[in-house]
Amino acid sequence: MSPHWTLDRRTFLKWSGALAGVTAAEALASEGHIPFSVLPAAADGRASLPLPLLAATAPAAERVVATGCGNNCGGRCVLLAHIKDGVITRIESDPDPDLPDQPQLRACLRGRSYRQIVYHPDRLKYPMKRVGARGEGKFERISWDEATTTIAEQVKRVTAQYGPLAIYVNYGSGISGINRGDAWARRLLGLYSGDFLSYYGTYSSGQTSYATPFTYGVGSTGNMWSDLVNSKLIILLGHNPGETVFGTNSMYWLRKAREAGARIISIDPRYTDTAVAIADEWIPIRPSTDSALMDAMAFVIITEGMADQQFLETYTLGFDEAHMPEGIPAGNSYKNYILGEADGQPKTPEWAEPITGIPASTIRQLGREYGSIKPAAFVAGYGPQRHANGEQSVRSNSVLPALTGNVGVHGGWAGGAGGTPAGAKLGAIPFEGGKVKISCFMWTDAVIRGKEMTAKTDLIQGADKLPTNVKFIFNLAGNTLVNQHSDILRTQKILKDESMAEFIVSSDIFQTPSTLYSDLVLPGPSIFERPNIVTPWGYGEYIIYLHQLLEPMYETRNEYDWMSDVAQKLGVGERFTEGKTADDWLRFVTEATAKGHPEWPGFEAFKEKGSFKLWFKTPVVAFEKQIKDPANAPFTTPSGKIEIFSERLWKRGQLDTVPAIPKYVPAFEGPADPLIAKFPLQLVSFHFKRRVHSTHDNNPWMIEMAPQVLWVNPMDAQARGIEDGDQVKVFNDRGATLVPAKVTPRIMPGVLGLPQGAWFTPNAQGIDANGSANVLSTQRGSYMSNSNPQHDNLVQLVKA
Ligand code: SF4
Repeated sequence: MSPHWTLDRRTFLKWSGALAGVTAAEALASEGHIPFSVLPAAADGRASLPLPLLAATAPAAERVVATGCGNNCGGRCVLLAHIKDGVITRIESDPDPDLPDQPQLRACLRGRSYRQIVYHPDRLKYPMKRVGARGEGKFERISWDEATTTIAEQVKRVTAQYGPLAIYVNYGSGISGINRGDAWARRLLGLYSGDFLSYYGTYSSGQTSYATPFTYGVGSTGNMWSDLVNSKLIILLGHNPGETVFGTNSMYWLRKAREAGARIISIDPRYTDTAVAIADEWIPIRPSTDSALMDAMAFVIITEGMADQQFLETYTLGFDEAHMPEGIPAGNSYKNYILGEADGQPKTPEWAEPITGIPASTIRQLGREYGSIKPAAFVAGYGPQRHANGEQSVRSNSVLPALTGNVGVHGGWAGGAGGTPAGAKLGAIPFEGGKVKISCFMWTDAVIRGKEMTAKTDLIQGADKLPTNVKFIFNLAGNTLVNQHSDILRTQKILKDESMAEFIVSSDIFQTPSTLYSDLVLPGPSIFERPNIVTPWGYGEYIIYLHQLLEPMYETRNEYDWMSDVAQKLGVGERFTEGKTADDWLRFVTEATAKGHPEWPGFEAFKEKGSFKLWFKTPVVAFEKQIKDPANAPFTTPSGKIEIFSERLWKRGQLDTVPAIPKYVPAFEGPADPLIAKFPLQLVSFHFKRRVHSTHDNNPWMIEMAPQVLWVNPMDAQARGIEDGDQVKVFNDRGATLVPAKVTPRIMPGVLGLPQGAWFTPNAQGIDANGSANVLSTQRGSYMSNSNPQHDNLVQLVKA
């Protein structure tokens, strides 16, 4: 049984009674403790976690409210806000006890410093309409009535003129969770016209969410993080949860695994903060060459007799010539490719060395370790898939666990997208329509040439082709309209042309590089000015209720409120709200939670506590059922097997770039691209502890904590006369950015690292002077899924 220091109810009441005339909260507070109350013990005998005392029992002058951080990093954390005279004066984190098997959901600096965002002097304060050219920055104050009337009129006009699919709700995650603008916009449009243009995938994970199901049939392929303590070897491929955070406690469990004896290897072009903290070995790799590494590891595993033949025969399709789908010509199996039987090139470590930049001896050693140490978890982050060929990295990473029998077992890891199938269940805001989808990354193409886009040429889903170009964009709490989309200068040019996207409405808390290109800019409330419910990426064994801590400041309005007005003006007001408040909708989405979890305490108790955490006696393992009982629990692929060979990809007929088996395919703007003669450095734009995407770029505390700098290896710096701290210019044919250099051996030669998310800030010459990575990135989509190849940028570097 885990140690804990939770008070039981009887002890608490006794103690409270002894403190006659003084509230328990005051007594505890006077001793410097955070006040707690308690829940009765759970049915399994495990003590429940204490409730933070809210307004009713806190000292009169101060409220202490358990809420959460809704930034769209990979975690979601509990915050404890101190509010005095209507002002948030201090933020702490999770007051629950820090149990070894149920650690706190402790917030990072971004969550703890969110007050700097809420009270930032640059907050948008009232609705505005554009009065100059798009992007010129000239706006005029208007009333909310004028704003909502204009939006309603534009929805009517564009729908009548071009049809409902001309209206696009753009990706935006400045506000995550349930109560967010894009969810309300989908509902509004579906109720008005029955449809709108939607998207699939995200900027973060488009390649892996598309590719993983080709192998496993589903997207959730990870064990719970807590299962890592059962691993003897953990290989992190481009995974940096110390900064990106995949479920709040990803680093906690990695540390626990190391304490339990796991060897941890980090494969990454950068010696990341995660690697510094917990890795036994760092293996630098050239960006976009992960599949070549994994091909060579497979070669070692197969040729040195470490492949789990019984596992392969029982559970997989396409490993060797004897286990191929009917009708596929001989010579197309994975083993055939790895051994080079058809193409004459065995995928040896010596073959992979010049591609990856990793010595053949290191690759051989890695293959031997992964092939012989069991169980082993080969866990990929989202960086390796954010490439032109990222889907191959995903598929290669899914096959190696099958090769070694590490699927469906404790301490193993099935590869691919990861994420646990054990997440807490939560409903969604209902909407109609939205079945026709583009890849989230391709919206600029849909603006320019939507009518040319088809299912075959551009992977349109839900229709053979698009009937119209995009003419109206909802951009709600999103900076992907300009800043977070690739090739900023090209995007700006497209948006400046008002004959293309005819109307753009943004809601945000600041005037961002994206809102500058909008026709209407609406002030939105921050995370602390709206109620919400949030869950983390992929590892959602908990959900958090975000209390509304403050009344919306200035003239800010929650998107639900102003869209209710728009709905009214479109004649669907009552259907839009169904008479519900935003909080009623939050209650509504938890009906699924109540159905899925017998231990659900009810909405009011959840709200009071601020979080609902699931607890598992043993960690949940992806595909455990399929491995234990293959006859009755097939994989949900067409064949019922782990599809190393995909007939669907074979039939797609683009085998050079989208092969039916995972294999190394050189990326455009990778090390094999001839463009490297002109632009000799690969730039990766990594996620950074200072920001959550572009959120916090203007947070003074975070700027102080970690300034924007370009990582440069000393060899590349020396060759260009660059010293640490020098201002440098990074450029290619798409654009240029100015930024100070951080000269460090923590990045491999030939590769530059620029943290993504810095706001595009042009100087007098029009050159970005803030290290904004997307002036350098391309709008060309990845080979298999048309997703964001953010790390494939060939560039040159000079001292500025
Ligand atoms: S930014 Fe992410 S890790 Fe940090 S407090 Fe917020 S949710 Fe937690």
